[in-house]
Amino acid sequence: MNLIMIDSIKLQPDAKQQLNSVQKPKANSKLQKLLYLQHGCCFFCGEKLSPSNASIEHLNPKAKGGTSTEDNEVVCHLSLNQTFGSMDLRRKFEFILRQKGVFKCPQ
Ligand SMILES: [Zn+2]
Repeated sequence: MNLIMIDSIKLQPDAKQQLNSVQKPKANSKLQKLLYLQHGCCFFCGEKLSPSNASIEHLNPKAKGGTSTEDNEVVCHLSLNQTFGSMDLRRKFEFILRQKGVFKCPQ
Protein backbone atom coordinates (compact mmCIF):
# COMPACT_ATOMS: atom_id res chain seq x y z
CA MET A 1 0.00 0.00 0.00
CA ASN A 2 2.75 2.44 1.01
CA LEU A 3 4.84 1.45 -1.98
CA ILE A 4 2.03 2.22 -4.41
CA MET A 5 1.51 5.67 -2.87
CA ILE A 6 5.23 6.47 -3.12
CA ASP A 7 5.19 5.39 -6.75
CA SER A 8 2.29 7.66 -7.60
CA ILE A 9 3.98 10.62 -5.88
CA LYS A 10 7.17 9.94 -7.83
CA LEU A 11 5.26 9.85 -11.08
CA GLN A 12 3.63 13.25 -10.68
CA PRO A 13 6.61 15.49 -11.50
CA ASP A 14 7.23 13.49 -14.66
CA ALA A 15 3.63 13.86 -15.72
CA LYS A 16 3.83 17.61 -15.16
CA GLN A 17 7.03 17.87 -17.18
CA GLN A 18 5.36 16.00 -20.02
CA LEU A 19 2.42 18.40 -19.97
CA ASN A 20 4.75 21.41 -20.06
CA SER A 21 6.72 20.05 -22.97
CA VAL A 22 3.48 19.48 -24.86
CA GLN A 23 2.23 23.00 -24.14
CA LYS A 24 5.46 24.90 -24.91
CA PRO A 25 5.51 24.67 -28.73
CA LYS A 26 1.93 25.94 -28.91
CA ALA A 27 2.89 29.47 -30.00
CA ASN A 28 2.86 28.36 -33.61
CA SER A 29 -0.34 26.31 -33.44
CA LYS A 30 -2.05 29.20 -31.61
CA LEU A 31 -1.28 31.41 -34.60
CA GLN A 32 -2.67 28.73 -36.90
CA LYS A 33 -5.81 28.38 -34.79
CA LEU A 34 -6.43 32.14 -34.77
CA LEU A 35 -5.79 32.26 -38.52
CA TYR A 36 -8.32 29.49 -39.04
CA LEU A 37 -10.92 31.28 -36.89
CA GLN A 38 -10.37 34.45 -38.95
CA HIS A 39 -10.65 32.50 -42.22
CA GLY A 40 -6.97 33.15 -42.92
CA CYS A 41 -7.51 36.91 -43.05
CA CYS A 42 -6.03 39.89 -41.25
CA PHE A 43 -8.27 41.07 -38.39
CA PHE A 44 -7.94 44.72 -39.42
CA CYS A 45 -7.78 44.90 -43.22
CA GLY A 46 -9.40 41.56 -44.10
CA GLU A 47 -6.80 40.56 -46.68
CA LYS A 48 -5.49 36.99 -46.86
CA LEU A 49 -2.46 36.37 -44.66
CA SER A 50 0.42 34.04 -45.39
CA PRO A 51 2.08 32.49 -42.33
CA SER A 52 5.23 34.52 -43.07
CA ASN A 53 3.50 37.91 -42.68
CA ALA A 54 0.99 36.91 -40.00
CA SER A 55 1.50 37.73 -36.34
CA ILE A 56 -0.47 37.61 -33.12
CA GLU A 57 -1.61 41.08 -32.09
CA HIS A 58 -2.63 41.76 -28.48
CA LEU A 59 -5.56 44.19 -28.63
CA ASN A 60 -4.78 45.41 -25.14
CA PRO A 61 -0.96 45.39 -25.36
CA LYS A 62 0.93 43.12 -23.00
CA ALA A 63 3.06 46.12 -22.01
CA LYS A 64 -0.12 47.67 -20.60
CA GLY A 65 -1.36 44.59 -18.79
CA GLY A 66 -3.02 42.77 -21.71
CA THR A 67 -3.14 39.01 -21.44
CA SER A 68 -2.08 36.25 -23.81
CA THR A 69 -5.56 34.80 -23.92
CA GLU A 70 -7.83 34.33 -26.92
CA ASP A 71 -10.15 37.16 -25.92
CA ASN A 72 -7.23 39.57 -26.30
CA GLU A 73 -5.50 38.06 -29.33
CA VAL A 74 -6.10 38.48 -33.05
CA VAL A 75 -3.99 37.70 -36.10
CA CYS A 76 -2.98 40.58 -38.32
CA HIS A 77 -0.28 41.69 -40.72
CA LEU A 78 3.14 41.68 -39.07
CA SER A 79 3.74 45.19 -40.45
CA LEU A 80 0.68 46.55 -38.64
CA ASN A 81 1.56 44.74 -35.43
CA GLN A 82 5.01 46.35 -35.54
CA THR A 83 3.50 49.76 -36.32
CA PHE A 84 1.06 49.51 -33.41
CA GLY A 85 3.83 48.47 -31.03
CA SER A 86 2.40 48.91 -27.52
CA MET A 87 -0.13 51.54 -28.57
CA ASP A 88 -3.14 51.39 -26.29
CA LEU A 89 -6.49 50.04 -27.46
CA ARG A 90 -8.15 53.43 -27.58
CA ARG A 91 -5.53 54.91 -29.93
CA LYS A 92 -5.66 51.84 -32.18
CA PHE A 93 -9.42 52.18 -32.55
CA GLU A 94 -9.15 55.88 -33.13
CA PHE A 95 -6.58 55.30 -35.87
CA ILE A 96 -8.60 52.58 -37.61
CA LEU A 97 -11.95 54.35 -37.35
CA ARG A 98 -10.55 57.56 -38.84
CA GLN A 99 -9.25 55.86 -41.99
CA LYS A 100 -11.12 57.07 -45.03
CA GLY A 101 -12.45 54.25 -47.18
CA VAL A 102 -10.96 50.77 -46.97
CA PHE A 103 -8.46 50.16 -44.22
CA LYS A 104 -5.02 49.10 -45.50
CA CYS A 105 -2.17 47.65 -43.47
CA PRO A 106 1.26 49.26 -44.04
CA GLN A 107 3.22 47.67 -46.89
ZN1 LIG B 1 -3.85 43.58 -42.61
